[in-house]
Amino acid sequence: MSKPLPLLTVAVPSPLRRSFDYLPPEGLVNEQIEAGRRVQVPFGRQTLVGVVLGTTNQTEIARDKLKRIKKIIDSEPLLPPDICKLLKWASQYYQHPIGEVFSTALPALLRADHAARVAGKRRWQLSDRGQALDPDALKRAPRQQALLKAMQKTASMDTRALQTITENWRPAMKRLLELGYVEEREETILPEVVTEVCVPHPLNPAQQTAADAIVEALGQFRALLLDGITGSGKTAVYLDVISKVIEQGQQVLVLVPEIGLTPQLVDRFRRQLASPVAVMHSGLTDHERLTAWLLAKNGEARVIIGTRSAVFTPLIKPGLIIIDEEHDPSFKQQEGFRYSARDLAILRARDAGIPIVLGTATPSLETLYNCQQGRYTHLHLPERAGPAQAPKIGLIDVRKQPMDHLISVGLREKMREHLSGGGQVLLFLNRRGFAPMLICHDCGWVSQCERCDSRMTLHQQINRLRCHHCDREQAVPTACPACQGDDLRSFGYGTERIEQAVQQQFPDHSVLRIDRDTTRRKGAMQTLLDKVHAGEGQVLLGTQMLAKGHHFPNVTLVGILDADYGLYSIDLRASERMAQLIMQVAGRAGRAEKPGEVLIQTHHPEHPLLQTLIKQGYDQCAELLLKERQESHWPPYSYLALLRADATDKGAPMAFLAEAARLAGDPAGNGVEILGPVPSPMERRAGRYRAQLLIQSEQRQPLHEFLGPWLFQVEAMKTGRKVRWSIDVDPVELF
Ligand code: ADP
Ligand code: ZN
Ligand code: ZN
Repeated sequence: MSKPLPLLTVAVPSPLRRSFDYLPPEGLVNEQIEAGRRVQVPFGRQTLVGVVLGTTNQTEIARDKLKRIKKIIDSEPLLPPDICKLLKWASQYYQHPIGEVFSTALPALLRADHAARVAGKRRWQLSDRGQALDPDALKRAPRQQALLKAMQKTASMDTRALQTITENWRPAMKRLLELGYVEEREETILPEVVTEVCVPHPLNPAQQTAADAIVEALGQFRALLLDGITGSGKTAVYLDVISKVIEQGQQVLVLVPEIGLTPQLVDRFRRQLASPVAVMHSGLTDHERLTAWLLAKNGEARVIIGTRSAVFTPLIKPGLIIIDEEHDPSFKQQEGFRYSARDLAILRARDAGIPIVLGTATPSLETLYNCQQGRYTHLHLPERAGPAQAPKIGLIDVRKQPMDHLISVGLREKMREHLSGGGQVLLFLNRRGFAPMLICHDCGWVSQCERCDSRMTLHQQINRLRCHHCDREQAVPTACPACQGDDLRSFGYGTERIEQAVQQQFPDHSVLRIDRDTTRRKGAMQTLLDKVHAGEGQVLLGTQMLAKGHHFPNVTLVGILDADYGLYSIDLRASERMAQLIMQVAGRAGRAEKPGEVLIQTHHPEHPLLQTLIKQGYDQCAELLLKERQESHWPPYSYLALLRADATDKGAPMAFLAEAARLAGDPAGNGVEILGPVPSPMERRAGRYRAQLLIQSEQRQPLHEFLGPWLFQVEAMKTGRKVRWSIDVDPVELF
């Protein structure tokens, strides 16, 4: 008897932190099943699609108890070895079930039993017989007749065109196919190539030095920070280097933040590179996403621009990875599989032996720390490219100043000055809605959300109260729900209210508001941006949506209405974020010929953070923040993991975490510290109570050696069934 075939280890999409072994499918004799191929497997009562991880001859379960693979879906590996390795590593590092990790990495259609090929666009055309047929022959089938008549007038038709002939065309078309009057064919979709190429500006000396350093690193692993102020021409450097990589027949992966992927950016890439560029973001249909993924995998796309999850895209010949706006928090997934696309991209580059460029005007503290340690190369673009100059930044001390809707007299005067000089003004306030709460002037009732420890925001235009934490919504009460009084007042300021006030203060100028509420509809953002560029809207007002990536050449004044918010927040990263946000918003000013000015309103003008930021710039400010982190042993001077739990029952999360902490024993001897449990800063959210346990270590390794075995025990805890829990490794938000 021949030796039994080895078992297959499969990553099955399930919340269990392990892989599963299966017998090879019936009838398989000697075929090698490589890792990375998808298979259909029985799992409990379900049939699921998993990915083969490898083969084994040993298993804990007796061979006759093992289940058999039902079907092998792919005839060759769908995921190449480098991606399989990256995913296995990520599953371990982020302590997330391997099956879910693999399924996150696949385009939605491939998570099911869908063929891994580029779905072409279907078209129908008449056969010679159909062409010669007299439409009267189909008199008794009016739909078929209508289709025939229409198709006799054109070469071929697609779904959309057929839809206009008759709504219910499919059955009729099916019949025509059967009768041999029609033929069906598929048109493959190729990545878009723009033929109208634009010639870039020659690089300036700083850009050239940076580009040379990157080019020199090609063919080996190196991480390079491209630290360049807004408008310094980072994108121009990327494009210059990318074209060289393409010339060498290699591909480039470009990761951008969620709201950084604008049509203008993609356009600029397409026009300057004149090479096939594939785009991957959450706005694509499943078919579009699959197409882009396959074009990257088979090498037809030379450049892949995508958001976070594009880090898992297979590439046939990777040559370079670029992370634009590397400091952006959207690179970290905040739910489920909580990976950092930036950190995984660095790992991927190291494994592939290629360089990675981290570009930003405001590097994250982690990245600056890595530069200080000599692990990353620090490249600088200290000046704006082209004719633009860096803006002047100043503070406005608003203490004891008369304020009109968050706008001080000083700021208003400046606005007047810039507006009458023909410039545009940008006002920044990171709070949307009309007012953050409604309050009863008679009895003190406030618009508390029933489901969260938070107030409901008044949205006056739609006349509703909305909770920004759980999305609960209700009509604005006409009388106080507590005392029936009718003196309900809005309290505090959001963008909607400031928009109204600015419009009143500047009746001769138009105001455009850009926040999540005004850009909800598809295409709304583009419409607003077009208006800005057409010069409509002299005052632009918005939230952090305005801070990123946009180019407003005519903005000469930026006003930051409330900088105090970030100075005293409990969040570990609040100051870092505030400094980044201020610099990013400031970067919108004076991007063209006109010089820009930035004014920051604050009650704490002496605050060392603000002082350093405006006098010495972001890098010095970051250094100050790094010192603070070092003194208090926070990352990057230590490593963190956060165990979170929530439940509708108030006591359950704390009880669960307390038991988890007990199970951990005292790992201090191994250099790991357990802090908590404590209720989360906002304890109740969407009707659930939340608590957390922090695990900290000075070194990465002991933390990871501790986490695996500990979580294995935590998973078996009975109290765990009463809560929803998750682990977050390298959390960016500590609540
Ligand atoms: P960043 O990505 O750093 O914000 P961009 O690459 O978008 O900067 O460049 C900012 C502006 O400067 C763009 O309008 C760009 O066309 C222009 N620019 C970039 N490099 C040069 C150069 N070497 N000479 C002249 N203009 C340049
Ligand atoms: Zn009242
Ligand atoms: Zn709520």
